[in-house]
Amino acid sequence: MRVYNFSAGPSMLPIEVLEEAQKEFLDFQGTGMSVTEISHRDKAFAPIVEEAEALMRELMNIPDDYCVIFVQGGASQQFAAVPLNLMHTGKADYIVTGNFSKKAWQEGQIFGDARKVASSEDKNYTYIPDVDKIAFNDDSDYVHICSNNTIFGTRYIKFPETKKPLVCDMSSEILSREIDVTKFGVIYAGAQKNLAPAGVTIVIARKDLIENPLPGCPTMLKWKTQADNGSLYNTPPCFSIYMANLVLRHLKKLGGIKEINKVNEYKAGLLYDFIDNSKLYTNSVEKKYRSIMNVPFVTGSKELDEKFVKEAKAAGLVSIKGHRLVGGMRASIYNAMPVEGVKALIEFMKKFEKENA
Ligand SMILES: *Cc1c(COP(=O)(O)O)cnc(C)c1O
Repeated sequence: MRVYNFSAGPSMLPIEVLEEAQKEFLDFQGTGMSVTEISHRDKAFAPIVEEAEALMRELMNIPDDYCVIFVQGGASQQFAAVPLNLMHTGKADYIVTGNFSKKAWQEGQIFGDARKVASSEDKNYTYIPDVDKIAFNDDSDYVHICSNNTIFGTRYIKFPETKKPLVCDMSSEILSREIDVTKFGVIYAGAQKNLAPAGVTIVIARKDLIENPLPGCPTMLKWKTQADNGSLYNTPPCFSIYMANLVLRHLKKLGGIKEINKVNEYKAGLLYDFIDNSKLYTNSVEKKYRSIMNVPFVTGSKELDEKFVKEAKAAGLVSIKGHRLVGGMRASIYNAMPVEGVKALIEFMKKFEKENA
């Protein structure tokens, strides 16, 4: 039986995509091979990467002066790749709004003067600092942010206007809402939240920014290496890219980002409305910064939280335990979570509240 999987990542994929992958798993387009067995140099494989890139461009409206590449190592690898490609003068600004942006900032310190220019740590990351009030440094090479904070359930509603290139970790919300790519120098995202199985990371970078990686930058971490080779410099994560391509096709069929954004707002709205009107559950994020992808909530009692997680699992609502830094529960409701999944969760929450009043 399929369950509703609220995991923060790896997470649900659209059932239509899984079925399609299953259908052609043993014989990919008449090759007599599984897509997992085909050489990345085979002429059956190249179109997959090309189509995935083209769909990314179309869906996110990515201009030609940006490259779109598929790399490995997860978003965490990009925490190092960002300074290694961009930190020419050895200085950068970081806004710390959660666990991952903190890790990115700490990684930046390995390579130079990574300065924390704003943080929401004082209130356990339950808000996003006012971007208009941040004093960015004029001598920085870039400004790094994380647009959606997976663990704490916050997101930027407005991005900072920076003189220096804005670099953004969009792992947990890429393709979930409309974004003006031209406001960013670099966007990167691990695929396993909203796009594909784990193994592939997408980097969207303005071409002029990738020309001069630091002398010590390893070949594999130079964005230019993959940009110059159509993401086929070495063996790519073939299956993950293939799955990403199927997900992108599916997104296009649904009407693109504008349409999926409406569904995402609707799903998150249902859940937050229910939480705000309940006596048992609370979400402590400042309302305007609430994420529409990750919804953390607590009952106020550790024992009750544990009971909730256990009984939810028995009811087919799995992986809803909150991150240890926040506790309680977290419902990750990425693009692939159907509206019915959110409704089923709310029904369960109602019943649990009644039974434990
Ligand atoms: C999951 C996540 C990461 C870490 O991704 P890996 O692929 O595991 O390295 C980084 N940033 C954000 C915002 C995430 O949600």
